[in-house]
Amino acid sequence: MTLDDDHFHDQCGVFGVYGSKEAANLAYLGLHSLQHRGQESAGIATVEHGRLLIHRGLGLVQEVFTQDVLAKLPGENAIGHVRYSTAGGSHLKNVQPIAVDYSLGSIAVAHNGNLTNADETRERLESEGSIFQASSDTEVIVHLIARSRQPTAVDRVADALTQVKGAFSLLFLTADEMIAVRDPFGFRPLSIGRTKDAYVFSSEPCAFDLISAEYLRDLEPGEMVVIDQQGMRSLFPFASVNRKMCIFEYVYFARPDSALGGISVYEARKRMGRTLAAEQPIDADVVIPVPDSGVAAALGFAEAAKLPFEMGLIRSHYVGRTFIEPESSIRHFGVRLKLSPVREILAGKRVVVIDDSIVRGTTSRKIVKMLRDAGAREIHMRISSPPTRWPCFYGIDTPSRSELIASSHTAEEIAKYVTCDSIGYLSVEGMHKAVGGAGYCDACFTGEYPVPFRQTVPPNRRQLALVGV
Ligand code: SF4
Repeated sequence: MTLDDDHFHDQCGVFGVYGSKEAANLAYLGLHSLQHRGQESAGIATVEHGRLLIHRGLGLVQEVFTQDVLAKLPGENAIGHVRYSTAGGSHLKNVQPIAVDYSLGSIAVAHNGNLTNADETRERLESEGSIFQASSDTEVIVHLIARSRQPTAVDRVADALTQVKGAFSLLFLTADEMIAVRDPFGFRPLSIGRTKDAYVFSSEPCAFDLISAEYLRDLEPGEMVVIDQQGMRSLFPFASVNRKMCIFEYVYFARPDSALGGISVYEARKRMGRTLAAEQPIDADVVIPVPDSGVAAALGFAEAAKLPFEMGLIRSHYVGRTFIEPESSIRHFGVRLKLSPVREILAGKRVVVIDDSIVRGTTSRKIVKMLRDAGAREIHMRISSPPTRWPCFYGIDTPSRSELIASSHTAEEIAKYVTCDSIGYLSVEGMHKAVGGAGYCDACFTGEYPVPFRQTVPPNRRQLALVGV
């Protein structure tokens, strides 16, 4: 998936530092490594002398934070957040971390995921007098903490989170402690690492390399880790359920240099490619990926099919998020700006194109046209995940069901729409095998949602509707 008009967006990445004189700088670098999880806004909160300091803004991490800004965030503890959200000032109030004052002091929170009972909880709290500033689910958690009767911040966080359902990997920062929590299903990843003098938390361990932190472990689903001056302790405040980690993290969202739950994302993608080759064989001359997300799967496919792997499409890394289209008559301008074909590899060949998924089909159609224009004789699309038929309610920004081409079209019909010669998807079993079997949410492929929800549109669409976009 390569284009904004045909793309899943993960909603967030979180990063935390406890016990470093360079907390804000480390958080900045951590967020930079998590930039792929959200490009629309970024924020960091630190605490000094019991006072929370916070800076947030719309844009990439490097646009939101300058050296001057970071210098104004002193303190040894920090939490940070990157988020995907629709651009526009009206969304600034949803940018995280969120910080509030309440009866026990101040608390800041950074959240990756989506709550499935946010609407009901918000309605209940509003009917009891709570006033909400923004439309994010995270604010619901903050209100529940503020209203809790428990004696400590840790108890209040646990109390609040037993009242919410859905997906949450959360970092909390108070005057003297950091609390990291992963929901009982473990939908979203969260890992702990260690530098010489600090503990660090990250949505993905790939962020640890840049700051020379050692990866310690992933938080367990349902685990709450508290770090304060006494050290680190671990609590399990929720009723235990079967783990349901998001399988799409392996298919597309996570960075290939991350290992989640001890499984290398890169290796998992390669295995998906190998299995895809076995399940959907095709006579061809060359295997090419849709860069960057299809690369590891294409390597696996080529290896198993004993076909040459080539970079038949080159991705430009210097495309801004917005651009001016010179002439509206230049068709496929968006995709041409991001990808260009290598004619020498494609001309006269029977080409297998590997992509991780198809959302609406519009990008695939443009890519196929581009390959044909470059002289490809046959184009066979192979997708390293099953057809995406259902929206996600657990923290991934997906289009509604009617916009997902596979929800209403067979593989043959999709091939016809994208104008390729054949299309083949990985099976649900093949995908699970690549990540080691059970314990994964696969609802966007199967419709089997592990946590029920009330709303009929994905949370991000609901928020757009709320602000009238
Ligand atoms: Fe991940 Fe899909 Fe489940 Fe959402 S529905 S958590 S994207 S597997």
